[in-house]
Amino acid sequence: MPSAQVLRALHGDITRLAVDAIVNAANTSLLGGGGVDGAIHRAAGPELLVECRTLGGCNTGEARLSRGYRLPARYVIHTVGPVWHGGLRGEPELLASCYRRSLKLAAGNGVSTLAFPSISTGMYAYPIELAADIAVATVRACLPEYPAIREVLFCCFSSDDLQVYERVLNSK
Ligand code: ADP
Repeated sequence: MPSAQVLRALHGDITRLAVDAIVNAANTSLLGGGGVDGAIHRAAGPELLVECRTLGGCNTGEARLSRGYRLPARYVIHTVGPVWHGGLRGEPELLASCYRRSLKLAAGNGVSTLAFPSISTGMYAYPIELAADIAVATVRACLPEYPAIREVLFCCFSSDDLQVYERVLNSK
């Protein structure tokens, strides 16, 4: 990838990040839920749910774009990660697809800075080490296609998750 494109992990609350777009680990209804989804809806305000109702849901592995409303981020990219069932039900490919589709949607909407949460590793129970490998490898593989994306952040909600992401980022 061009050296000007930066990938890094940080510990924090994704709703506070002043990036062009944040990614939401949503569910297929796009009508809100717990975890990062709930936090994003609370911080964005009720207008986000109004727009999400018009989006018609989202299949696992796909992504949809909305405005960010009261968030510092201009856009929210809603993607639906797979529920972990042991890894033999297409989970790795579906998780990679979340990252690919989100990057594509971001690039198509003029986004140059983007932050991902650790998709599927909360309620959907995807093992963090496996998920972080896929997140980093997929973003690294796709970024050269989208030179206008300057920075991708992996926003980790715990310091344990941050350690995992930093290990993956530094090991390859
Ligand atoms: P999923 O259903 O895809 O597993 P969750 O929201 O349950 O989604 O968890 C995904 C990840 O998001 C978990 O690592 C969780 O700790 C993290 N998370 C929860 N709230 C926030 C937040 N405000 N900012 C960043 N990450 C968050």
